[in-house]
Amino acid sequence: MTLLRHTTADVKERSGLTINPAKTCQPIGAMYAALGVRNCLPHSHGSQGCCAYHRSTLTRHYKEPVMAATSSFTEGSSVFGGQSNLLQAIENIFTIYKPDIIAVHTTCLSETIGDDIPQIIAKAKEEGKIPAGKFVIHVNTPSYVGSHVVGFSGMVKSLVDYFAVATDDKRRTINIIPGWVEPSDMREIRRLTAALGVETIIFPDTSDVLDAPQTGQRQFYPDGGTPVESLRKAGDSLSTIALGLSASGAAARALDAKCKVPCDILELPIGLRATDRFIDALRRAARVHVPEALNRERGRLVDVMSDMHQYFYNKRVALWGDPDQLVALSEFLIDLDMRPVYVVTGTPGREFEARMARVLAGKISEAKVRQGSCADMFLMHQWIKEQPVDLLIGNTYGKYIARDENIPFVRHGFPIMDRVGHSYFPTVGYQGGLRLLEKILDAVLAHKDRESSEESFELVM
Ligand code: SF4
Repeated sequence: MTLLRHTTADVKERSGLTINPAKTCQPIGAMYAALGVRNCLPHSHGSQGCCAYHRSTLTRHYKEPVMAATSSFTEGSSVFGGQSNLLQAIENIFTIYKPDIIAVHTTCLSETIGDDIPQIIAKAKEEGKIPAGKFVIHVNTPSYVGSHVVGFSGMVKSLVDYFAVATDDKRRTINIIPGWVEPSDMREIRRLTAALGVETIIFPDTSDVLDAPQTGQRQFYPDGGTPVESLRKAGDSLSTIALGLSASGAAARALDAKCKVPCDILELPIGLRATDRFIDALRRAARVHVPEALNRERGRLVDVMSDMHQYFYNKRVALWGDPDQLVALSEFLIDLDMRPVYVVTGTPGREFEARMARVLAGKISEAKVRQGSCADMFLMHQWIKEQPVDLLIGNTYGKYIARDENIPFVRHGFPIMDRVGHSYFPTVGYQGGLRLLEKILDAVLAHKDRESSEESFELVM
């Protein structure tokens, strides 16, 4: 039985209807970013339903318990505002759950009411509800605009706004804002910078939070996350490398404006050239040499790219998800001689199409790139029905198209709710590039095995 048989190949331009969006809601991103800070409890200022949805989406993706508190709006708070709920919540949370930081994000409801969060935080301070040495920070995440990436970006910028300070104690550290990537990617970025001998402050950092080991002990706040002290010191670093303009650009620029820490905003280091640029930026910023071990890692990636080139060559690929991931992935696919022909993201932002145009640079003349609320999975499916592709790359929501159209499918991005591995195996860096190649080849070759006739069914490929 086909799951999406209502999808027609006949594309009608739409302006007021989204069908199966290529994004999710803002507070999920704010919650994910806050989980990358040590001893920080995300707090959803709205009704319980929003908070439950955001927690469960993160839990389904990371397969880890995700802790967050809620202002638990009732009909009364919806009419009179959520100030008293938030004041009560701040007092309760510091008394019962004892975090160092409460990271408040809003929801559609509290945004529509117009709750003034900085004023409520100031009142909580005045009333002595915030213990000494503890913090309440906030970001506005109205989910009727933006997406999870916008919420993530906002919370990362809030970390800068609330904590970073410039002192006379200048340091040789390099700040790394890794963007919305997996805990495994953040761990890999740390490994790469350590291999280069670069001292870094990485924020946020969800490794050891959302990929924490099973130790038999229940820890409400896992060991990972960027400590407040490091967030403060970020204002004294030599420079900042921000990975992914959409998720990390705002925080990097805020840090530059607030503390005069210059920033380099790069694409995510996915694939060969983007990783080269990242390593080079680190090398220049910290004035270090690239160790031979990293050159050899790079060589292994180049080796597989060339050994298996015949399976990549000219394959048409459809991608959906977050802007930063899509730009970096498209560049890598082009380096493999693949053809990213359809690219959609529901995340708004002025520079996505220009970034994609730079990557495509006339190489893929048939490419269709679409952004915004009507750049959805329905449109993607229609394009595929008009002219098929050889590979799908995106989050779990693509599995319906993959099944309906019998197209190999590589899961990548957020959310992935029906597989594991993404939070443990990186896709950034040279090692991550190898992992991506393995996944693409597995999907393409398994399809070839399945579909080939008996005469052309090969043992060696
Ligand atoms: S879209 Fe708005 S109402 Fe819906 S879950 Fe997200 S924040 Fe809550």
